[in-house]
Amino acid sequence: FHGRHINPQIYADLDGTNWHLKDYEARGGYQALRKILGKDGGAGLTQDQVIATVKESALRGRGGAGFPTGLKWSFMPRQFPGQKYLVCNSDEGEPGTCKDRDILMFNPHIVIEGMAIAAYAMGTSVGYNYIHGEIFQVYERFEAALEEARAAGYLGDQIMGSDFNFQLHAHHGFGAYICGEETGLLESLEGKKGQPRFKPPFPASFGMYGKPTTINNTETFAAVPWIIRNGGQAYLECGKPNNGGTKIYSVSGDVERPGNYEIPMGTPFSTLLELAGGVRNGRQLKAVIPGGSSSPVLPASVMMDCTMDYDSIAKAGSMLGSGAVIVMDDTRCMVKSLLRLSYFYMHESCGQCTPCREGTGWLWRMVERIEKGEGRPSDMELLDSVAGNIMGRTICALGDAAAMPVRGMLKHFRHEFEHHIEHKRCVVPAYV
Ligand code: SF4
Repeated sequence: FHGRHINPQIYADLDGTNWHLKDYEARGGYQALRKILGKDGGAGLTQDQVIATVKESALRGRGGAGFPTGLKWSFMPRQFPGQKYLVCNSDEGEPGTCKDRDILMFNPHIVIEGMAIAAYAMGTSVGYNYIHGEIFQVYERFEAALEEARAAGYLGDQIMGSDFNFQLHAHHGFGAYICGEETGLLESLEGKKGQPRFKPPFPASFGMYGKPTTINNTETFAAVPWIIRNGGQAYLECGKPNNGGTKIYSVSGDVERPGNYEIPMGTPFSTLLELAGGVRNGRQLKAVIPGGSSSPVLPASVMMDCTMDYDSIAKAGSMLGSGAVIVMDDTRCMVKSLLRLSYFYMHESCGQCTPCREGTGWLWRMVERIEKGEGRPSDMELLDSVAGNIMGRTICALGDAAAMPVRGMLKHFRHEFEHHIEHKRCVVPAYV
């Protein structure tokens, strides 16, 4: 499930067999950790210097929110006298996203090294990697890599003879989408039902077991060793201002070569589509969901003018999110597509808040009756109203994630919904 890559930093030279520690070291692995600890003949880097380098790189969280990583690290109260925690969010569950599992499978040590550097920078001595529950092989691979790193002295007490200690553990989830939400993840990691918490307080002050905790996505940690080895400025220059480095996109749907593609931030969407072999069977591009199922759909005309980075996609009215690019050709019915998405969010709602618990069910039922040709003209306004009444009224972002695709579809493909209601059939010939 690998694609081709432009200027890769995470996926370089991976073939599925060279994930072991010796292979990673041969690619320059753990040199960044050596560098910050002063084990490469240099003076080492202070915690402030590591955080400043990550800030300079303009690395933004790769899990979906795109929050600046260096800034997030600076929120950690380093002087807090008790235990602090570092958590890697590998609970990849966003429909369309499949990059983190590949990173952990093909290059697990890059995540371990990235986490060790982050732990050093924030003064944390214990970390967890929360891995999605449905990917057993990936969990086992990461455990095997942890064993190698411990045996080589890259994890544990007094790492490489320094006074830096870091214990890292893997944790296998149970497959609930909501455990990818950071506070739902923490609840699950503590052994409770994975239901998101009210924020504030944020995890930086009240996280795992009520202690300061920093949570980053797998791909975010995987970017860190390159940044430390080559400098923040070099990483920034790989991308574009405010959008540093490369990003991995999971391209799926109607393309010739679905797969994960690592390309520099700011690469035109048309280049990514070309890497993935173009639209399948030479058909016309109709629409693209650019950042996982929670991001509003964009029509082809808008998407073809976009570059793949946070700012360009936001300007076009959607989100880069986790980088799951779902390509739809001209045989796709948008009502049917929304029906699939709405079912997913209804199914994955944890049920804590009424607008999400009830609203996601309402959305699904309305879209279902429109799709079946039983819709009413008033359903258009009702759909929009229900979506609007969910947004911003829930504990976590799942409510918004369910509502945004609805609004995106109604904005760009309203005529298809109206056609379904008026003619009781699909506008797309293949579905007639
Ligand atoms: Fe649970 Fe939905 Fe509320 Fe999030 S928004 S806490 S998933 S009910």
